[in-house]
Amino acid sequence: MTDLILAFDFGGTKHTAGLIERSAHTWLAQKQVTSPPGADGAYDIATMLGLGRDLLAGARPAAVGVSFGGPVDYATGTVRLSHHVPGWENQPLRRLIETEFGAPTNVDNDANVAAVGEHRFGAGRGCSSLLYITVSTGVGGGWILDNRSWRGRDSMAGEFGHIMVDPLGPDCICGSHGCVERLAAGPNIALRAREWLVAQPERGAILRGLVGGDVSAVDGKAVAQAAAQGDELAWDALAVSARALGQAIGSVANLINPERFVLGGGVTKSGDRYWETIRATARAVAMPEVHFDLVPAGLGDYAPLWGAVAIADQPPA
Ligand SMILES: [Zn+2]
Repeated sequence: MTDLILAFDFGGTKHTAGLIERSAHTWLAQKQVTSPPGADGAYDIATMLGLGRDLLAGARPAAVGVSFGGPVDYATGTVRLSHHVPGWENQPLRRLIETEFGAPTNVDNDANVAAVGEHRFGAGRGCSSLLYITVSTGVGGGWILDNRSWRGRDSMAGEFGHIMVDPLGPDCICGSHGCVERLAAGPNIALRAREWLVAQPERGAILRGLVGGDVSAVDGKAVAQAAAQGDELAWDALAVSARALGQAIGSVANLINPERFVLGGGVTKSGDRYWETIRATARAVAMPEVHFDLVPAGLGDYAPLWGAVAIADQPPA
């Protein structure tokens, strides 16, 4: 009897497939491809099914787990849409994969799947409740409550990025304003730094130097690097992000009282001062009786793929 688990991670442009034996902690094989510009949902699905066939080499998996970078209806395994790639609207991804590989399949959005991955294999091991938060080009979240995924009525639970932390803040893509994502995500840190560099010509010498004086070339990474080298304008731009995260974490801690917050994504690599600011803000917002750990993610970019392994065997919703 086969005991192979096939795992898929549909990222925005990067697609990864992995094959592993059930209960193992090392991959038998992995393949990754980057979509060419202009690729659509149909292209991505065909590519991923091809990767799966290559890895299996004729074998049949016991189960398949799928992480998708966008909203998914977990009960039916249908992708609602992709915010980055056209042609994903209402794709019955679970049915397509079950038909191809003849194995039971579970599909969930990447933040939920990464939460499961961190809980089973990473920084969330041993705790029964956690909120996984990813801070990169956007801000997402996924819940584990009582050792299970919590998706909510519309599979929309964990939209941590769209908690409003500044009622007077800038407009957000979700239709609201002053959201955590609008203040904390990498592109928004960079946008803020660029605006300040233009408005405050006497500040930001280190950051200006890093981009050779070309303010339009400032990205999130440059801001973090300049802040680490002591540039105060860069640090101020980063601190807005850290305080927004901390404020929302403190409020969420008061509401749900989870054991742990696990933070991943490129922006969270912005150094000790960034983490200290998140922790201090969260601590100041949370009630004194509310306790929590705030820790870096353990699986990095591979949290969704490991999570896909873990959800492959999950019972249906
Ligand atoms: Zn929003």
